[in-house]
Amino acid sequence: MGERDRLYAILAGAVGAGLTFSAWMGVNILPVLLIAGLIGVVLASRMFYQGGFKSRLVAAPRLASGSVPGVGFADVGGQEAAKRELMEALEFIRAPERIRELGIRPLKGVLFSGPPGTGKTLLAKAAANYTQSSFLAASGSEFVEMYAGVGAQRVRQLFAEARRLARREGHGTAIIFIDEIEVMAGRRGRHESHLEYDQTLNQLLVEMDGMESTGGTGGREGSDAVRILVMAASNRPDLLDAALMRPGRFDRVVRVDLPDRHAREHILRIHCQNKPLESDVNLTALAAETWGFSGAHLESVTNEAAIAALRRGARRLSRVDFAEAIDKVMLGERMDRAVSEGERRRVAVHEGGHALVSELVRPGSVATVTVVPRGLALGHVRQGQDEDPVLKTRVDLEAEMAVCLAGAAAEELLLGARSTGASSDFEQATEIGRRLVLAGLSDLGPLDPDLIGQGELWEAVRGLLNGARQRASTLLEDRTELLSWLADRLLEQETVAGSELRSWLAA
Ligand code: ATP
Repeated sequence: MGERDRLYAILAGAVGAGLTFSAWMGVNILPVLLIAGLIGVVLASRMFYQGGFKSRLVAAPRLASGSVPGVGFADVGGQEAAKRELMEALEFIRAPERIRELGIRPLKGVLFSGPPGTGKTLLAKAAANYTQSSFLAASGSEFVEMYAGVGAQRVRQLFAEARRLARREGHGTAIIFIDEIEVMAGRRGRHESHLEYDQTLNQLLVEMDGMESTGGTGGREGSDAVRILVMAASNRPDLLDAALMRPGRFDRVVRVDLPDRHAREHILRIHCQNKPLESDVNLTALAAETWGFSGAHLESVTNEAAIAALRRGARRLSRVDFAEAIDKVMLGERMDRAVSEGERRRVAVHEGGHALVSELVRPGSVATVTVVPRGLALGHVRQGQDEDPVLKTRVDLEAEMAVCLAGAAAEELLLGARSTGASSDFEQATEIGRRLVLAGLSDLGPLDPDLIGQGELWEAVRGLLNGARQRASTLLEDRTELLSWLADRLLEQETVAGSELRSWLAA
């Protein structure tokens, strides 16, 4: 509570006490109450006419605004191509005279496209820092209302606020960042309440067109013109209205992809800067183990590792904390699920089968194997890869299918029967088989996916599934003892590292 609020509370208390005392002494307090009520009505109606209630209906979007954010391009891991392209584009703001001399039309919009958590917001903030611009952020969903005209009003407010903010902070430029822009700027006429959507998008186009070439304000603001650059992010740029993408609006589309191995290492280094690490932590190896993770996942891994260290009462983050954190980010919190001894053994055999075959068909591919239940999974094998393969051959895909089916094969071999635990493995193996056939890599050769019959497709996939199952069974039959040892080890210590498994295989 602020100082003023406290004073009001004391005053209200004193007046209330005074009135109660007067009433108790037999004084008629009715006229005082009537006058107080009258004053209340007058104040409320003044608020209404001054726009207090109205502005609540057309509330400004919740803007994350402020001076230049303390985020630089050095804080963005990987994304080298995106950074390069963006910095190049930002020269429009940093050297406006040169741009004018050459008669280049200034840039008005930059669109970041890519999966969630890859650093699009971070790049926009770094751009604001790089160009010493004021920064305002909003989300597309904040402009979407049922009432026609509200979204358009919010767009106007957003641009007006950007100009106000830049002037207040003494900056010549402002960057407006709109996340999830597809929500407010999808193709026109697609939505049910399309009048409202269309008006919102039209207003955005009007504002962007109004950002006049040199002054950036459409001449509305006179000499203290503020240049505005609109940055937007979308996971689905294909949904955006074509008018938004035409030259003169979002002139640059910057692709922000999931980080590759080097980029993952870079991101991990950035987020470990403020964390004390044990000497056993190898960020290069961690980067190899976190294939498919976005920057946001990696930030979460470092944070969860620090929490795990705190729980252990340790002063430094160790390899064990990172292993725990990766599993947690990937699969969720450990579950205290009641599992019988028999089921635990089955899970250990199943995961042991996956791990063993994975290591045999792709040496070095297992990061860890565990029987700790997390989320929906009762156990899990985490794969680590030295490379980020973009293209896969038939050999790669067949190996993946054998790994998928190895869990069920191991159960059959050591426990005499398979269980329902393998159903998602079959689905996954079938999906890989379908991909293999439809990519023209099977014995059917290249084919037209629209013309091949479902029966023929399934026959081809079934052949591949049977081959993979046979391969997994043979590999495990030759190493029954090792599989049994691995299952026992998992029951004993819950998790086995890939390196431990490899040294047993090599022995
Ligand atoms: P969304 O599409 O879900 O809005 P986004 O692409 O805008 O996601 P950010 O909000 O920029 O993602 O990233 C979320 C967090 O993840 C950042 O605050 C940062 O901690 C971390 N992060 C993401 N990408 C990177 C990166 N390339 N380098 C460093 N940290 C990153």
